[in-house]
Amino acid sequence: MLRVRGAGASGFWASCEGRAIGLNGGMSVKEILLHPDALLKKKCAPVDGVTPEVQALARDMLETMYDAPGVGLAAPQVGVLQRIFVMDCTMKEEEPEPLVLINPTLVWTSDEKNVYNEGCLSLPEMYEDVERPASAVMQFLDIDGAQQEREFDELWATCAQHELDHLNGKLFIDYLSGLKRTMITKKMMKVKKERARE
Ligand SMILES: [Zn+2]
Repeated sequence: MLRVRGAGASGFWASCEGRAIGLNGGMSVKEILLHPDALLKKKCAPVDGVTPEVQALARDMLETMYDAPGVGLAAPQVGVLQRIFVMDCTMKEEEPEPLVLINPTLVWTSDEKNVYNEGCLSLPEMYEDVERPASAVMQFLDIDGAQQEREFDELWATCAQHELDHLNGKLFIDYLSGLKRTMITKKMMKVKKERARE
């Protein structure tokens, strides 16, 4: 979940609000785990075959992402330790482009870097600048189990790398100084306490 540096704080959060993506089947919005949570620190296992269960999980994850709203969501964020993430970095006025990436691998990154003011659905309202390669190529299985290779640029590249990190138990705050990370974690512990009381 990201927003562009310098854009309004609600830019990307708002961009996918209220969009229907027209996927078939009974989808459901899942609860998103908040940092700190042990499940967000775990390395996820490869998906062993794109079964109907995996497809249902992917649809639920898309539904959960659009509902949040966010531009990316990884399986561990809904408590599933499998290598799968979903994303859609299109703007509100564009046609939605829901992407499902199963067992994604990073096969190339550009030397050129980009800085985005990143956020994460597991760390609501926390934003920090993170530098990553400006472009990235990933290989993955799509929701039909077909092998795909895609080059991502700009926000898509940042989002894809952010989500891939989730599958390895890494959060965007792990790129920050220890001091900043501790501050954000303390704030999040307060947020979680308040939510638990609601
Ligand atoms: Zn995230």
